[in-house]
Formats: sequence, structure tokens, C-alpha cells
Amino acid sequence: MVKEMPKKVLVREVQRLQLALGEQTKMSKLSQQQCDKLKNERILCRICFDRDICIVLLPCRHYVLCETCSGKCRSCPICRLSIGSRLPVCDAVSWADSICNTV
Ligand SMILES: [Zn+2]
Ligand SMILES: [Zn+2]
Repeated sequence: MVKEMPKKVLVREVQRLQLALGEQTKMSKLSQQQCDKLKNERILCRICFDRDICIVLLPCRHYVLCETCSGKCRSCPICRLSIGSRLPVCDAVSWADSICNTV
């Protein structure tokens, strides 16, 4: 059974919610800046510096190559571990978007 809240408590509750909402807006603005920063700092392939990194090397799990360069490399350019398999992942922009949406 739900007891009706006294008006005073209700008003205070609304104020509290508005305050919290204001805080949230501030926070989303901040994370929007972070998103833009992330997007501007798109990480480019460590070999050609031309395309976005989109391949994770396995088993070392380094994330440094575009699809084209990963196809040419037989070992990881970072740790020299021979590449067992290549795992395609989403490009950097949608990756940044997904981070921003969870913040
Ligand atoms: Zn490349
Ligand atoms: Zn590696």
C-alpha cells in the first residue's frame, strides 16, 4: 500500500530530482567533450598511418593494425609474436560512440 506523501516532502523530492537532473546534464556535457576528443584522436594504423585500426592480433591482443597491414604482417609489430589469427573489430568512431553511451 502506497502512502501519499505530504506536500512538503514531495516538493523537496522534486527539487532533489531537478538538482540531480542538472548534475546529469553537466556530466553528459563533459562526456560529450570527451567523446569529441576521442573522435579527434582516432588511432591510426601503426604501419601505414593512413587507415583506422580495426584488427586485434591474436594471441598477443595488440590493437595496432588496419585490415590491409594486418594481412601483410606475419608477426606483431609491437611484440614480434607471430600472429595466430586476426580479429576484426568495429572502427574507432563507433567504438568511441559506444563508450560515450555507457558513460
Ligand atoms: Zn595499415
Ligand atoms: Zn603483439
